Amino acid sequence: MNELLKQLTEAVGVSGAEKEVRLLIRDLIADHVDEWSVDSMGNLLATRRGTGQYDMRILVDAHMDEVGLLITDIDSGGMLSFVGAGGFDDRALLGKVVQVGPDKITGVIGARAVHLLSNNEYSRTVRTDAMRIDVGAKSEAAAKVKIGDYAAFVTEYEELDGGRTAIGKAFDNRAGCAALVELLRGERYPFDLIASFTVQEEVGLRGAEVAAYNAKADAALVLECTPAYDLPNEKDASPNVALGKGASVYVMDSRTIQDPRLVAHLMATGDARGIRYQVRQPGGGGTNTGAIQRAGAGIPVATLAVPGRYAHTPTMMISLDDYESVVRLADAALRSLTPEIIRRR
Ligand SMILES: [Zn+2]
Repeated sequence: MNELLKQLTEAVGVSGAEKEVRLLIRDLIADHVDEWSVDSMGNLLATRRGTGQYDMRILVDAHMDEVGLLITDIDSGGMLSFVGAGGFDDRALLGKVVQVGPDKITGVIGARAVHLLSNNEYSRTVRTDAMRIDVGAKSEAAAKVKIGDYAAFVTEYEELDGGRTAIGKAFDNRAGCAALVELLRGERYPFDLIASFTVQEEVGLRGAEVAAYNAKADAALVLECTPAYDLPNEKDASPNVALGKGASVYVMDSRTIQDPRLVAHLMATGDARGIRYQVRQPGGGGTNTGAIQRAGAGIPVATLAVPGRYAHTPTMMISLDDYESVVRLADAALRSLTPEIIRRR
């Protein structure tokens, strides 16, 4: 069992309310870093000093927030209305168990039962405004909930397929957080490594904007979990990324063209070390790379991601082999990164 992934995915940290997961990560890294701090937005920043070989500061980022819900209203029967904190798939919500507010009150996301719908209603997707979180209505539980409280999904981490596949919530992006924790626990790098576990990525890359400004980095690497779309398809089309085919290397998304020198370095490292990677099809989506690349006077940046199925739903699936590939490739690429690679001519 990968205890790191279990602990990190089961921790709660919806965008804007990341305290629980931040404290967990702080405890996981505190003995392995030279200093850590929390900035005004709640980003956890840590420094692991290098061996002194290169006078460089390299930022490695993983956002720690997850998508979840925010309570907007409580009706007289104790039913909770909500909106999303971060974008997610409305279709995946009905019937899911959530934990609401700091007291973690258990509720279930409900809507009118299928028996009570007209054919016309049944054929339409139920939107979140027609759903409610039901905490047992007239119980004391509802009285403990306040407007503005967060609700997070409850999904236990499990390993399948002889331990090579895992399901759980928030692999986006606790998989990236776990990988970054592993990097901080390894041998020192030839340069100072600045780690940022950032907040509010899912609502618009907000934490990274502040963290990257502070980091004053010479280059950066973002660790992420990217949606895998490799399910049966009517068309003969290659998937953007597939589960089990290795670490996913970004080239371009809706927010960035990744630094080509770093992209080439990641691929060359994978080839030289025999670490499996796949190139993510250029296209939509966005990561903290978008904020980091344009922070201050600009920072060369690239993204490495664990492919995950069913992103932005209460249960995702990843391959633990892909996760290992991300850790190994990030580590090897960082160890072989030289000032020469990022010098502009
Ligand atoms: Zn993400």
